[in-house]
Amino acid sequence: MSLFEELTEGLPRQGPGSTEATLRALAMTSGLPPRAKILDVGCGPGAQTIVLAQATRGEIVALDLHGRFLKELQERARAAGVADQITTVKQSMFAMDFPADSIDLIWSEGAIYIIGFAAGLSTWRRFLKPGGWMAVSELSWIAPNPPQEPREYWASHYPGMRSFEQNCEIVAEAGYGDLQTFLLPAEDWWNNYYGPGEARVLELRAKYAGDPRTCETLDNLRREYDLFRAYSDRYGYVFYVMRKPER
Ligand code: SAH
Repeated sequence: MSLFEELTEGLPRQGPGSTEATLRALAMTSGLPPRAKILDVGCGPGAQTIVLAQATRGEIVALDLHGRFLKELQERARAAGVADQITTVKQSMFAMDFPADSIDLIWSEGAIYIIGFAAGLSTWRRFLKPGGWMAVSELSWIAPNPPQEPREYWASHYPGMRSFEQNCEIVAEAGYGDLQTFLLPAEDWWNNYYGPGEARVLELRAKYAGDPRTCETLDNLRREYDLFRAYSDRYGYVFYVMRKPER
């Protein structure tokens, strides 16, 4: 198993989020048909996919590049009794080729950063039916003039990171309307993502105590947790829910 697999195997989520946040964003997507066609991009182990399946009668395509996450998702979907609503697709979000105007709702929690917020919104738009919804969560600066430490960290780890205001402009420029947003609370980072992640890092730190290179990698990861402890009032995950106009 690779170190990355050891770090992530069996963890509840691969990004900040919660059942409550998924349901709150879903409640903003008014007028979905009963058997809505939903695409969950970068679904990971599927925490939000299961919530979407339980809260709608939708037909969900859950797409991820990594088969082992899809396997975890399938196991969870079976356990939750929603496997018949979910089809998994092992594919890159860069290569998606769904028919134009075919999807009611595109969902992506903690994953659109991989293609980039602006690029994801503009290239995935064609898959949406007119009047269809896009709901994505994205790391965003939420206060002006970020201090040097988080600014430098995120400049090297996610150069595409923008402010909340800039992202709202990107949404409009990409041709969406009806934008609604909310900030994920800090506990949505800790309870399901950073908390379990940090515990795993500490376990692996003990396991690899005699391996300085691995320890260095693990210690770099710990920096990210400490940074959020210090600066969670400066940046956070924002849910952006928006609509492709009817015409
Ligand atoms: N939505 C999940 C996972 C977010 S982590 C959650 O919130 O828990 C980002 C996910 O994107 C990971 O599951 C990763 O495997 C997937 N991913 C990475 N590169 C990808 C790509 N090019 N195409 C599709 N998925 C990708």
